[in-house]
Amino acid sequence: MRFRNKPWATDFIAENSFYCIPDPENQKGKWNEIFGNNNPIHIEVGTGKGTFVTEMAKANPTINYIGIELFESVIVKALEKAVAADIPNVKLLNVNAQKLADYFEAGEVDRVYLNFSDPWPKTRHEKRRLTYKGFLDLYKEVLVPQGEIHFKTDNRGLFEYSLMSFSEYGLLLKYVSLDLHNSEFEGNIMTEYEEKFSSKGFPIYRCEVKYPE
Ligand code: SAM
Repeated sequence: MRFRNKPWATDFIAENSFYCIPDPENQKGKWNEIFGNNNPIHIEVGTGKGTFVTEMAKANPTINYIGIELFESVIVKALEKAVAADIPNVKLLNVNAQKLADYFEAGEVDRVYLNFSDPWPKTRHEKRRLTYKGFLDLYKEVLVPQGEIHFKTDNRGLFEYSLMSFSEYGLLLKYVSLDLHNSEFEGNIMTEYEEKFSSKGFPIYRCEVKYPE
């Protein structure tokens, strides 16, 4: 994702700490208190400009959503959407997902979404792929038993790699589509990247996997 430095972003993030949580390491184990309810928590790792989490939060008021994004200059766009939506069930974290276990207690997360994750095509960058086994360990650490990962991408190479990675890890395949927009799947909410690539005619690949008992 390309981004420009946005000097006003730091201030905007600091002013909107209701949505973009400034100290997530101090909230570990307390996310239900932050949301003020015991509803399930779904996280999107690599949330980008936030259309998915904010639209999912609007459509599903009894689920709490947390979008996690590395870059301040990108998450600020997600924050603008969350502020405009003015809803209590979406939060944002400007952190690296490599430290997920610093922010969530074991079993605190009910589902992980990965949408159009960076493909990192070079073999030497494999560990950066969000479906690499190191990340699958992390998700397992914070997810409920039998928690799920829902993954979609336009990148066939990353999709094939991810199916292999999930399978080698022992995850169970619940759903797979090689052309989401021409499938019977209902209730799809498009991400920014999904809009961009599907409008160019690329098929969207999607799967749901579950950790075994
Ligand atoms: N999910 C959005 C979409 O579908 O439009 C954004 C997709 S973009 C290709 C991938 C995003 O993941 C980028 O904004 C990137 O900064 C973020 N990202 C990649 N690795 C990350 C990590 N380890 N922790 C947090 N965010 C990460």
